[in-house]
Amino acid sequence: MMTRFAPSPTGLLHLGNVRTALLNWLYARRYGGQFLLRFEDTDADRSQKVFIEAIRSDLRWLGLDWDGEVKFQSAHAGQHRDALRKLADQGLAYRCFCSEHQLNLDRRLAASRGLPPRYSGRCRELNVQESASRGEREPHVWRLAVHAIEGVVEVPDSLRGSVTFNCADLDDPVVARSDGSFTFLLPNAVDDAIDGITHVLRGDDHLTNSSYQVWLLLHLGYQPPVYLHHGLLLGSDGSKLSKRSGSHSVAELREDGLLPQALLQAMARLGHPNMPEDASLETLVANFTAEHLSTSAVRWQDDELWRWHTRLLHALPVDDWLVRLQHVVPAADAGFAALVQGNLQRIGDALHYARLLDVQVVPDDDAMDVARQVGDAFYAAAIGAWEQHAADGWKAWADAVKQATGAKGRELFMPLRVALSGATHGPEMSGVVAYLGSGGVRARLEDIREKIRI
Ligand code: GLU
Repeated sequence: MMTRFAPSPTGLLHLGNVRTALLNWLYARRYGGQFLLRFEDTDADRSQKVFIEAIRSDLRWLGLDWDGEVKFQSAHAGQHRDALRKLADQGLAYRCFCSEHQLNLDRRLAASRGLPPRYSGRCRELNVQESASRGEREPHVWRLAVHAIEGVVEVPDSLRGSVTFNCADLDDPVVARSDGSFTFLLPNAVDDAIDGITHVLRGDDHLTNSSYQVWLLLHLGYQPPVYLHHGLLLGSDGSKLSKRSGSHSVAELREDGLLPQALLQAMARLGHPNMPEDASLETLVANFTAEHLSTSAVRWQDDELWRWHTRLLHALPVDDWLVRLQHVVPAADAGFAALVQGNLQRIGDALHYARLLDVQVVPDDDAMDVARQVGDAFYAAAIGAWEQHAADGWKAWADAVKQATGAKGRELFMPLRVALSGATHGPEMSGVVAYLGSGGVRARLEDIREKIRI
């Protein structure tokens, strides 16, 4: 059994691609098969090396490892040409000389008669000699002779049973352009056959493509793969997933410090309702059940992604957490890491507490307002109380400040928190005090007095 991920290296990996890659990877890992990576790089103008590198790097980051060497569609160019020749020899592919202008007229005429905008079949009737000789001089595309009054194409689909297309409803699709390059249909199908792909998981926007591809493969004497056409991934507003409706590139999410596991979790659960909460990659594999994949569209939710991220962040093992944190806050030490871990939604939030690491850091605006409101006298009293209770910890100190100032509750805790951590929310004060130690607390109290004086 073999599945594949077949991106075109014409852009960065986006959420829709991640879902396709993940589903094909899960299928292979769950059912003991292989997972292939194939770059569909036949569009020479738009394919770029940087995208090949970026896609590989993003897949590695996600932990979606592939088996064997990476494949490139361009390496099979000879087989694609052979396949077209074979179909042409059987009269199953033909040159079409119709101009864009002519095709537009045909489409308008069909529309005015209430007919679907199919190719008229004009060039299909040309005899072989005429077609060949015109082919030497005139620009032309190649079409498949699929449309027929009778006959059906059965697309084997293990989510939908087999899907039947009447040839009468199908078109004669273009497989090769006038510049000789192939459209998606033929190379994609032929490569699946050559690469030994047995299962193709992809969005149901490919269903009609699959009918043409099954037709083509059968006529070439190949066994078509089994398809699993799942429901599409839509934006949170139900429209096609795009930048505007909330799609992201993986590169962008990596830059935002997202944990790869969060993306995998959020994605694997979409359209697969029985995935357990809180699953590792191994658990995702063990619980993946192809039959549970939904054929209805699903919606992407950023909130869900970041909810997973936060949850995973809080549970990261100490060492791993410290390394990640130091990427964002290089001065972070183990004590700081442990102190703030449970208070962050994203790693970058740790910057709110930079004052714990460096007394010079100016508290954020809200925090400064709090400090200014209580004023110098409050902090002078807090220092006095600290002098006596530094060894006794947070509780004793807070009680002493309360005694000295008459402040209580929020009025008592907030100014102290602000002076020490630089923020109005954050880790437990007992932890903050223990982390900063006697000198650290005093230094911050003295510093805040200076800062509110300015
Ligand atoms: N290269 C195609 C794409 O990126 C592959 C589609 C498929 O999965 O067959 O859309």
